[in-house]
Amino acid sequence: MIDLRSDTVTRPTPAMRRAMADAEVGDDVYGEDPTVARLEALAAERLGREAAIFVPTGTMGNQIAVHLHTRHGSEVIIEARGHIFNFEMGAMAALSGTLPRPIATPAGVMEPAQVEAAINPKVSYRTPTRLLCLENTHNLWSGLPMTAERTRALAAVAHRQALKVHLDGARIHNAAAALGTTAKELARDCDSVMFCLSKGLAAPVGSMLVGDTDFIVEARRVRKVFGGGMRQVGVLAAAGLVALTEMVDRLPEDHARARRLTEGLAELPAIDLDPTSVQTNIVVFRLRPEHFPSRDGLAPAGRFVAGMKELGVLCGAFGGFEVRMVTHYEIDDGAIESALAAARATLAA
Ligand SMILES: *Cc1c(COP(=O)(O)O)cnc(C)c1O
Repeated sequence: MIDLRSDTVTRPTPAMRRAMADAEVGDDVYGEDPTVARLEALAAERLGREAAIFVPTGTMGNQIAVHLHTRHGSEVIIEARGHIFNFEMGAMAALSGTLPRPIATPAGVMEPAQVEAAINPKVSYRTPTRLLCLENTHNLWSGLPMTAERTRALAAVAHRQALKVHLDGARIHNAAAALGTTAKELARDCDSVMFCLSKGLAAPVGSMLVGDTDFIVEARRVRKVFGGGMRQVGVLAAAGLVALTEMVDRLPEDHARARRLTEGLAELPAIDLDPTSVQTNIVVFRLRPEHFPSRDGLAPAGRFVAGMKELGVLCGAFGGFEVRMVTHYEIDDGAIESALAAARATLAA
């Protein structure tokens, strides 16, 4: 199977397996796992922050940040298709009692003036706005990278009004690669940043939350509250160290393959795909409704995905007409050509 559903489907590399087998470990709830300590130090350094904490999932990292930057009964400004709002099980409400204030955008990037307008006035009869959440790359907007300049402009608006800024940087290294900059530069103006080791970097489990020392001390407490205190977890941190040291520099390969895939798909008449929309490793396209006579209740995206699966290619359907394909470490040039051939055959049928 050629699995283009997500960059989370990668299995650990041989170097990760070896590092995991050989990892020096201790009880991390007691702060005694040397491999976790090394990973946290490296993550903090790479992102240019004082400290970092290893968390089992990106969702937990994001939600610890939401919890610490807000209070119950406050609002969080987020782009309308943001992951923290749409794909984290209502956790911002369930765990922290916060309300999202979603901002609709035409292409995934908020304008500073939109954020300014969404901050409630500081009066006794309006809900306090406490946090701005940014996402880079933006998952549902075809992995759109956001520049350091835009991040700075948005953070400046928030900080002027005493809001905190959290960056959901699940794929921040993809953003840095696409923009020719560093994760550190993209994170500079944010109070906290989460990034995933288990996405394009191919680690089996784990994400990092980074910020200043006081924030991370509190994050350690909240991680335990959320059930995320782990014991000899150096076996997983060891894979994370390989992810950060060996897997970041190869991300441009995934981007080049996503571009090749995009060019091939955009040539097909039944597919609506602006080639310039794909800048990293996520390809999202729409099926043109006029090419899909309605049949047995199953929407075109579902039918396309089922057809592709029969030909050995897995991809994801969103809504009735959108399809997502994601390139990663286990997708080589041959897999891209096979996926294109399968798409042609599926659409012809
Ligand atoms: C994957 C992802 C996360 C975290 O997901 P987990 O499955 O909880 O690790 C957060 N934000 C974005 C944008 C993501 O793509």
